[in-house]
Amino acid sequence: MESAVFTGNTVTQPSESLARVIEKESGQPVNRCYQCKKCSAGCPVGPVADLHTNEVIRLVQMGDTERLLNSNRLWLCLSCKTCQARCPNGIDTSAVIDVLKAMVFKQSRTPAERRIPEFYKSFLDTVNMTGRLYELGMIGLYKMRTKTYTEDIGLGIEMLKRGKLKFLPEKVKHLDQVKAIFRKGREKK
Ligand code: SF4
Ligand code: SF4
Repeated sequence: MESAVFTGNTVTQPSESLARVIEKESGQPVNRCYQCKKCSAGCPVGPVADLHTNEVIRLVQMGDTERLLNSNRLWLCLSCKTCQARCPNGIDTSAVIDVLKAMVFKQSRTPAERRIPEFYKSFLDTVNMTGRLYELGMIGLYKMRTKTYTEDIGLGIEMLKRGKLKFLPEKVKHLDQVKAIFRKGREKK
């Protein structure tokens, strides 16, 4: 029996294909892809990812949720949009990947790259607290979450010496507006 597809915001009917769901949630016309591979040729993370950019789109067309959600490609994408700029159909693979990442969380799966989501969370926590990125706070939160206390310590000391990391955070004027954005995001989950 075909099972329902759980996505970031929607639980679809069994008859609804993964490609249709992804098209709806990402706004990307994945079914127009004809595998020319121009996206993959320009993707900066291609050499280290386990799937090429064109393969992500092909697997979406084929409905291979398992391979997609277990891929490290989801976490390595830089959202640089080179794929979209090169695609003759204007497909933004990073938008597709965003939907796939939401599916990983929604289904309580373990991300293929465990540390990267912890980095996202640490980044966003400091933005929520101060309205802008507070690097030292972000590094501290990330280190606690990943228990990588001593990793890159030499680099951190060097950055502090050169004044590249500020000790104290700076808050933006209208922090309440930033917090309202985060609240809305949480409500949408
Ligand atoms: S947005 Fe992601 S998939 Fe597209 S080219 Fe950049 S790194 Fe590659
Ligand atoms: S560039 Fe566009 S059409 Fe070509 S393989 Fe990539 S997504 Fe498909």
